[in-house]
Amino acid sequence: MRRRALIVGNWKMNGLIEPACDLADGILFGLGQRADRMLHCEVVICPPATALHALHQRLGSGTLKLGGQNLSEHESGPHTGELCGIMLRNVGCWYVIVGHSERRASGEGNEVVGRKMAAAFRDGLTPIVCVGESLDERERGAAEAVVREQIAALLPHVPDARNKRESLVVAYEPVWAIGTGRNAEPEQIVAMHGFLRALLTEALGAAGEKVRILYGGSLKPANARTILALGDVDGGLIGGAALKATDFLAIIDAVPDEF
Ligand code: PEP
Repeated sequence: MRRRALIVGNWKMNGLIEPACDLADGILFGLGQRADRMLHCEVVICPPATALHALHQRLGSGTLKLGGQNLSEHESGPHTGELCGIMLRNVGCWYVIVGHSERRASGEGNEVVGRKMAAAFRDGLTPIVCVGESLDERERGAAEAVVREQIAALLPHVPDARNKRESLVVAYEPVWAIGTGRNAEPEQIVAMHGFLRALLTEALGAAGEKVRILYGGSLKPANARTILALGDVDGGLIGGAALKATDFLAIIDAVPDEF
């Protein structure tokens, strides 16, 4: 099954407006030199929310798309410090990361992640839902059970509309690989992505075949070619290496041509 590759940069809490625009300019310039590659690869950056408006003005609705790093499950109202999906749409976002492990670590549980995913769909954003086990869970042999539970909490919130179901993006991000420089081994990635694909097709039928499953966790130019060529790896969610245009572009260059 061919799925369009998706490369997502998660800038986390890095970048004031000016350097964010410079970084986006560098990426955009590089994408301009790779027009043929863009036919089979979609590229999204998720900058800090404070830079979204300026980046939207700069990028318009061109090849480099914008995503949020988080959203509220609510539509509006008394939720100090939160941003809803409509606000993200308003500043040009197409995507939103949901349930990143750094948010789960500050208390966001599976139920909340499920409701946030529903809010993203409701507000016209494509959710990139992060799942993944901790080192302790992997060492206890519980990685699949943890991921199964994370996916199970999402399923009641996946819309019935087939186009929405198919647009869902899941990112497998083993917590122990995020920001550590230590990526998961190819066999571990193949096993977990295969497991996720089986869960998704069992629950969503044919639409589950279309869901893109990204790998995230210390993905960088040095390992991207190997990881992005693995079965059921439809792209990557990238943190550290997304903060340097040359590294991010080198990862885009590593997407296999057959996507
Ligand atoms: C992430 O934060 O989603 C991530 C994968 O980070 P890094 O690439 O730095 O491991």
